[in-house]
Amino acid sequence: MIDQGQAWQAVKRRDRAFDGRFVTGVLSTGIYCRPSCAARHPLRENVRFFVDGESARAAGLRPCKRCLPDDVGRDEAAVMAAIDEIRRAEDAPTLAVLAQITGYSPTHFQKVFKRATGLSPAAYARALREERAREALSAGDSVTGAIYEAGYSSPSRFYDDTKGKLGMTASDWKDGGKGRSVHWSVIDTSLGAMLVAATEQGVCCLSFNEDESDLARRFPKAELVEAGEEFRDLFRQVTAAVENPGQATLASIPLDVKGTAFQQRVWQALREIPAGETRSYGELAAALGNPKASRAVGGANGANNIAVLIPCHRVIAADGSLGGYAYGTQIKAELLEREKSR
Ligand SMILES: [Zn+2]
Repeated sequence: MIDQGQAWQAVKRRDRAFDGRFVTGVLSTGIYCRPSCAARHPLRENVRFFVDGESARAAGLRPCKRCLPDDVGRDEAAVMAAIDEIRRAEDAPTLAVLAQITGYSPTHFQKVFKRATGLSPAAYARALREERAREALSAGDSVTGAIYEAGYSSPSRFYDDTKGKLGMTASDWKDGGKGRSVHWSVIDTSLGAMLVAATEQGVCCLSFNEDESDLARRFPKAELVEAGEEFRDLFRQVTAAVENPGQATLASIPLDVKGTAFQQRVWQALREIPAGETRSYGELAAALGNPKASRAVGGANGANNIAVLIPCHRVIAADGSLGGYAYGTQIKAELLEREKSR
């Protein structure tokens, strides 16, 4: 049985989680679609839901050429096969090889893979290697061993891949940032006392109503130093971004993030939410290509060390209410208000 109201809501959201659970028949055009079809939505009165393509065809409808509703199962199998191959292969397999394995054309397979995972196969392979390298490092392996283990052919390839993404150099990921200096300051803002901290690579922490002891909890092995003159300009930019959240300058502030490849994707997606807009965890998960990942997205949101600059305050509850915030809902509400009236 299909719940008509739920099905129509899924169609209106273009919710990929419902692909394969029913098809949307459109009586006026004579075609049927996946719930997530990107084509313009039909009028509700012309829509009938069917459990699958077969029953839609029995009612005289044809499959949509754009979303290929009968390929849902085949697409899933193809993506799983490709992920298997990427995980197993010594060197990242080319798109042509993956297309051949799955029986799709390279361009079509690229589209199918990206729809399912949010990444191209090449980016997926890169993220997987980084993830493995970081896991091996935090498990205490030697850096060089971890690099080869993760499938990099040489240490220099690893540093090339991660440069500008990790912020910290590879050795620092071992042992909680040991040997690194984190420069901090507490600055009065109109939202309260702001703790801001940075390494040579960029801002690594921004929080409210916290002090050095909270910083020590976040970076247990780093050397904490009160910030000197050399961080004044950077911290002035950060303060401006807090007073006027959503300014274009936000993107130019360098960040030194500490997280897995998946967490970084979530944080990137947060930074892509336009100022003045909000999203639910579910919507964010869907934007990342995996509507079922909303709990994992919530976890990544909670692991964010850099408030405002990675705007986790733009995530609200699914029912449109404000939802929670690590530093209190009053600060969250104020940030959103400032972005809206900008
Ligand atoms: Zn369609």
